Amino acid sequence: MSTELFYRSIPSLATALEAGKLSSVELVRSVIDRTKAVEPKIKAFNSFDEEDALAQARESDVRRAAGRTRGAMDGIPIGIKDVIAVSGQPLTASSRMLANFISPYDATVTRKLKGAGAICWGRLNLDEFAMGSSTENSAFGPTSNPYALDCVPGGSSGGSAAAVAAGEAIVSLGSDTGGSIRQPAAFCNLVGLKPTYGLISRYGLIAFASSLDQIGPFARSVEDAAITLGVIAGHDPLDSTSYRTEVPDYRAALKTRTGPWRLGIPKEYFGEGLDSEVGRAVEKAIAHYQSIGCEVKDVSLPHTEYGVGVYYIIATAECSSNLARFDGVRYGHRSKDAKDAIDLYFKSRAEGFGAEVKRRIILGTYVLSSGYYDAYYLRAQKVRTLIRNDFLTAYREVDAIITPTAPTPAFRRGTKADPLAMYLCDIYTIGVNLAGLPGISVPCGFSADGRPIGMQLIGQPYHEAELLAIAHAYERAHEWGQRRPAL
Ligand code: GLN
Repeated sequence: MSTELFYRSIPSLATALEAGKLSSVELVRSVIDRTKAVEPKIKAFNSFDEEDALAQARESDVRRAAGRTRGAMDGIPIGIKDVIAVSGQPLTASSRMLANFISPYDATVTRKLKGAGAICWGRLNLDEFAMGSSTENSAFGPTSNPYALDCVPGGSSGGSAAAVAAGEAIVSLGSDTGGSIRQPAAFCNLVGLKPTYGLISRYGLIAFASSLDQIGPFARSVEDAAITLGVIAGHDPLDSTSYRTEVPDYRAALKTRTGPWRLGIPKEYFGEGLDSEVGRAVEKAIAHYQSIGCEVKDVSLPHTEYGVGVYYIIATAECSSNLARFDGVRYGHRSKDAKDAIDLYFKSRAEGFGAEVKRRIILGTYVLSSGYYDAYYLRAQKVRTLIRNDFLTAYREVDAIITPTAPTPAFRRGTKADPLAMYLCDIYTIGVNLAGLPGISVPCGFSADGRPIGMQLIGQPYHEAELLAIAHAYERAHEWGQRRPAL
């Protein structure tokens, strides 16, 4: 049986489009129909605009007929996390604060995708303002994991992950501040890449913690992730932290970079709290790399244990500053019964933000306040440097590092009510953001009851081409990523 259109890879769709065996309108129709069929169970989308997507598809077909095709993503529908601006479309961050906001402009990544002919399709659910690990903190309700409907898809980019896993988009974009691409990718049997800080423009991304946030792709294969990355990467004068670097041909690198690689195993990532099925799956993946000639070495990242603490100081500090702009005056929710300006700020923010967002703003304001700044924020910045140095020291001996992506497979909705328990979902992903490194999650197995497991590969700054090649070397010898959920 041939694979349904909505589950096919970008290269196979591009070939069919190029050969005239398929039109983008047909492809987009198939994705729309699939979305309507499975959304009642999955709830990955905050909104979608069918007519707009079909109009974009018709333009792609017209371009193709005129011989003006723009490359592999021309005509391919990509889902977009609802924190990335698409001109004329809603942009909510899954918050009541922005429930009625329409973006007046395109994010740089959106502009680049449109420039490559991709069809921007739907706004995908998340934890409010990307704060969370389960997509349960959404003002629009939770998203389900396509592989286990009573479980979470991970977060915060849970909608972006669930949509691609369920065939509601071919690929998608998420954002990752402490694990929000990699952890949902692991929970939903996808490839999820958090690029090096500075590789992708953050212009038009709703800021959570600006020194940690990066946009990146979700895909059902390493190759699809590489193609998407190639479209969105590169310097942007509109983002002052964007880095001037060549964008290599990531897709070609999958073939040209063949290893063998030196891979580091940090013992700090295989200790207490790691689920035994996850641990075994990652051990097997490591053994596979050895079997193809890679050298596997123990490395130490001694400051790992401070990662979660440091992250929840720096990320909350930055979010308290970034979210100050939502004041009920310029945009977003405005309270109806305020008696003066100060009351308007208080009431609009009290009504507009959910509990987790408020918790973080309060914590972040506290760690930045006079008397506590030195004790918390400044010290956290110093430890952040130690964490980065741990990685850079390890990279004197190895090309990449392998860890589990998350300590457990997807958990059931409603089972992590304690914020600290939720924060611990990110113990293996947070260090990568603090150090500004690229990290990718790759499917590496399933629990006995059918929940996906992912491993994380962590690379050197701006070595995405190599990281993708290492991921591909594992993927091509395993069929995990080709399993689809029973929906
Ligand atoms: N789960 C982490 C948090 O709640 C990371 C979220 C993210 O990467 N956006 O902050």
